[in-house]
Amino acid sequence: MSFDRMGIKDDLLRGIYHYGFEKPSAIQQRAITPIIQGRDVIAQAQSGTGKTSMIALIVCQMVDTSSREVQALILSPTRELASQTEKVILAIGDYMNIQAHACIGGKSVGEDIRKLEYGVQVVSGTPGRVCDMIKRRTLRTRHIKMLILDESDEMLSRGFKDQIYDVYRYLPPEIQVVLISATLPNEILEMTNKFMTDPVRILV
Ligand code: AMP
Repeated sequence: MSFDRMGIKDDLLRGIYHYGFEKPSAIQQRAITPIIQGRDVIAQAQSGTGKTSMIALIVCQMVDTSSREVQALILSPTRELASQTEKVILAIGDYMNIQAHACIGGKSVGEDIRKLEYGVQVVSGTPGRVCDMIKRRTLRTRHIKMLILDESDEMLSRGFKDQIYDVYRYLPPEIQVVLISATLPNEILEMTNKFMTDPVRILV
């Protein structure tokens, strides 16, 4: 399977090839198509498998760049990972008019407010700061179509469970959910039961 045959938008394909990718990694091969088709997906994958690039690719594929509403929300356990994901989105989305923002603790709240009020299509953040921005009504959730939970087991072990559930409560009920985790302990399975509908399971 090549990127060309996945139904990816032309301007995004250009970005992917320009970034240096020639063909999809194993997780990208198996997860991108069901996600583009709108399915909820649980991917059991470690870092280094191409999961961050996959997240970047799917959010670039699904956002409507003519709108400035937030349409995709990515939650990550660390500031570094949330920033890295934002960077890859901006890099492979270079030929598209995509606006992304890393909403992370330790950075100025004023900068978050400015960016979110200017309007971005994608927010990549840590659960605490994202939850804060939603409660301030600075991050508007009404147009969010996709929630991506990256390194979910790591988010739970860092104590973010309540904040993740809090964020979820503010999202539209029809939201598509993609959950990535290296391990699938019971607490993760509880989350998948609560947040997801008939998910496709992928083990890489
Ligand atoms: P990731 O897990 O997305 O951070 O990817 C791990 C490393 O593999 C990074 O250096 C990526 O740039 C690289 N990578 C991810 N997907 C691909 C791909 N389809 N082709 C070549 N390199 C890739």
